[in-house]
Amino acid sequence: MSNDLQFGVEDLVFANRILAKYGVLDGFGHVSMRNPDRPEHYFLSRSLAPELVAQNDIIEYDLDSVAVNGDSRRPYLERFIHGEIYKKRPDVQAVVHSHSPSVIPFAASSVRLRPIYHMAGFLTGGAPVFDIKSKFGCTDLLVTCAEHGAELAKILDGSSVSLMRGHGFVAVGGDVSVAVYRAIYTELNASLQEKAINLGGEIIYLDEQEGQNADATIRGVMHRPWELWKQKVGTL
Ligand code: MN
Repeated sequence: MSNDLQFGVEDLVFANRILAKYGVLDGFGHVSMRNPDRPEHYFLSRSLAPELVAQNDIIEYDLDSVAVNGDSRRPYLERFIHGEIYKKRPDVQAVVHSHSPSVIPFAASSVRLRPIYHMAGFLTGGAPVFDIKSKFGCTDLLVTCAEHGAELAKILDGSSVSLMRGHGFVAVGGDVSVAVYRAIYTELNASLQEKAINLGGEIIYLDEQEGQNADATIRGVMHRPWELWKQKVGTL
């Protein structure tokens, strides 16, 4: 493992612990990163609660979500989410899949998740909803094969977030810190948007240009929350 790779995998372990600490992942959900040395591979923990993930739990997969080097440890059932998004989106370096509670109503409702503040400018293009039923009929709602994952990636298209009806969401980013930030703030935005809706008045969301501007600015200062979040989860 190169030094860069070592640091990358460390960041992935931090991402697991941070997302657990902030309630975006619990016993379920996962976060992955593309292998920076081999973009046709990605890293994801073995089937384990994210809060418990350590460096030696990380498995390397190809983009068909087959473990490389004959690693036979138990995988996450929904690893295809990650492989199929990396296949479709060369710009994506990290993927979070979560069932965090405030987001679920927006995945089930005709009310769209929209950016209520500058911290969620990445939602400006909309968060398209993947309904597994529309293509695959009655399932257990889980993304358990490449075909399910490819359809989710198709619905996500160029967006930063896609909601999953009756299930959760995915958030993607150009690096691990951005994907983590987007997952945390998707949850916060959903909670705040619901509060705004409950006020009962007219809501003015960020317009598309405001959202793009805010997203670019926030990504430029990502080092600040990332250092804080790492410190909050302590040493690995
Ligand atoms: Mn899931």
